[in-house]
Amino acid sequence: MKYHVIVYGCQMNISDAERVSAVLERLKYKKTSNINEADLIVVTMCSVRQSAVDRIHGLVEKFKTLKKSNPKLKTILTGCILKKDKKIFVNGFDYVVDIKDIKKLPKILEIKKIINQNNYLGIAPKYSSKFSANVPIMTGCNNFCAYCVVPYVREREVSRSAKEIIFEIKNLIKRDYKEIWLLGQNVNSYKNKNTDFPELLKMVNNIPGNFWIRFTSSHPKDFNKKTIDEMAIGEKITPYLNLPIQSGDDKVLKSMNRHYTVENYKNKIKDLRKKIPGIGLSTDIIVVFPGETKKQFGNTAKLFRDVKYDMAYINKYSPRSGTPAAKLKNDVSDVEKKRREKVLTEILKQTALEKNKKLIGKKTIVLINENRDDNYFGKNEHYKTIKVKSDKNILGQLIKVKITEARPFILVGEVINGK
Ligand code: SAM
Ligand code: SF4
Repeated sequence: MKYHVIVYGCQMNISDAERVSAVLERLKYKKTSNINEADLIVVTMCSVRQSAVDRIHGLVEKFKTLKKSNPKLKTILTGCILKKDKKIFVNGFDYVVDIKDIKKLPKILEIKKIINQNNYLGIAPKYSSKFSANVPIMTGCNNFCAYCVVPYVREREVSRSAKEIIFEIKNLIKRDYKEIWLLGQNVNSYKNKNTDFPELLKMVNNIPGNFWIRFTSSHPKDFNKKTIDEMAIGEKITPYLNLPIQSGDDKVLKSMNRHYTVENYKNKIKDLRKKIPGIGLSTDIIVVFPGETKKQFGNTAKLFRDVKYDMAYINKYSPRSGTPAAKLKNDVSDVEKKRREKVLTEILKQTALEKNKKLIGKKTIVLINENRDDNYFGKNEHYKTIKVKSDKNILGQLIKVKITEARPFILVGEVINGK
């Protein structure tokens, strides 16, 4: 029996799919990258934006055709699914399964084998990479930002035990993994018994080995000084942070229910830059939150100019039914929405290029994660994308590179011989 996995969404969805794969392989299913030869197709979906949900409708149509040539084909939908969409998708899929219930897959597929695991994050995953691993440390969210579906699809926060996390990471390091991503919807509010997020960072950093520690997502209200200090001390914690601000205007932040001000946020950035000079910084922005005025948008543009991000994930606001923001009036024209998106992208391009140009001639370490069109690509400690050429296969390796060329979102480099 063969299974095929389709993953949409963030790293957490990829991590969920790795657990689904592990359960299926214990049931003797074998993974195939060819959808046409699969007996079972699993889709891990994301509901953060409507466009992601619409893609699932497209898949349902494709499955109808596939089922004509393979009537025994079964399909499963899991991941982040809104209640209202579950009702719709039960018609398009054979099974719609809550991610927390994937341990019940054997029963669902009518194979009588019990997977002895009550907590789904405790299921040992089948990692999709041989050198970079996603390790969820918590799931769910208690924050209810006005635009976001996560608290509805993932429910409240649950943190994994520190012991279980450390055990998983130690095993990965024994297998020579080079990069560990600590994942959660809000990693900064991780709490298990007496261990908080900075303490967990310290415990992971104390694991012997040559590897990098990264984490996502952070929330500015919970990202604290103790975490900054731990990042500065921990030699394995990479000098990179994604700190999503969402808007550069205090009034908009208030209506988003974010519980911080632009000034609080900027003070955290100042402290980070003081203690970790040269840290790579990225953010998430929503354009255009309902009711955002030109002046309020101007404050976001100003924030972009002031902070000078290395990268920003600029997301078009997508109304999500059931969230408080969905009831707000949004009277900004599409033309104006596009203009605001473009303004931010242009500022970002300029500041990122200015910063990247200063790196020409500098040496950096890169974890190579892709081989495409005769080039190798990877990320350095600051999470900058770097392109290099190599005659040897360097995929999955930490390589020393000299930067030779700078563009806004990519650096070109040369491998330094002898690594
Ligand atoms: N927990 C993180 C935080 O507090 O910022 C973010 C996690 S969220 C799942 C990932 C990103 O999706 C957010 O930073 C936000 O920019 C974007 N997002 C969430 N809901 C959205 C919506 N309704 N429309 C557009 N973008 C959205
Ligand atoms: Fe969504 Fe992040 Fe807000 Fe939670 S903290 S509701 S995941 S944006």
